Amino acid sequence: MSGIVDVSIKQPRKLTFAERLYLPEIVKGMGVTIRHLLRNIVSIRNLPTILYPEKRRDYSDRFRGKHILTTRDDGTLKCVACYMCAEACPAECITIVAGEHPKIAYEKYPVVFDIDMLRCVFCGFCVDACPKDALWMTRNYEMAFFNREEAIFGIDKLIAKPGLPVKDGMGYRPYYPGDGTRPPGDASSSPVIPGDGEREKWREKGIDLHHTEGPGPLNRSLDGSGREQAAAPQHPMAKS
Ligand code: SF4
Ligand code: SF4
Repeated sequence: MSGIVDVSIKQPRKLTFAERLYLPEIVKGMGVTIRHLLRNIVSIRNLPTILYPEKRRDYSDRFRGKHILTTRDDGTLKCVACYMCAEACPAECITIVAGEHPKIAYEKYPVVFDIDMLRCVFCGFCVDACPKDALWMTRNYEMAFFNREEAIFGIDKLIAKPGLPVKDGMGYRPYYPGDGTRPPGDASSSPVIPGDGEREKWREKGIDLHHTEGPGPLNRSLDGSGREQAAAPQHPMAKS
């Protein structure tokens, strides 16, 4: 009759006497192992495996390995603690605590920036989400931990040391030299116009936000490198 599914139980086939001994199957398995062993000894150069860690595979420039927090020329983090990477993270493994930056041009910075490497799925969404080019990935895949605490990488483990090469080279990042997508300059070194919170503080202190003499908070002059000029007169708030 149509619509009826046959759900009768299928009994497993009974093993023969030889199969119940297991010995013939063990001998067959050992034969495969010995065949591969001899083949590899004869043609050791064609081994499908590599002698890690003496030899390493050359991974792509887009490899998604351990993250790094990029830095400005003065060694400070480019991150402005905007939380966009944490919002984009599907594994919810980024923890950020924002603090007020002593340099008013940057406004915020991460007091805490942790990535739980045991939860991270190395998707790179955080790198894509970052508006400041502050979070990149590397080709470093050697992360072994003895306990959970070691797997949580803080700023000390994530920060890129200025002038020092990154272990195993750069991996996934938004811009690549020569592919036409590289930004013309370091956008993250541009001054950030203070947000409403800072304006409110200045208003409370009676500081004029729109004065035109000298590089005030909203009309800072920049030299060619994108930094404030050293000899520029200071804003009254900077003196206090
Ligand atoms: S790579 Fe993916 S999972 Fe890992 S921290 Fe970034 S967004 Fe989260
Ligand atoms: S998205 Fe970039 S700038 Fe924003 S908190 Fe994450 S790393 Fe920092």
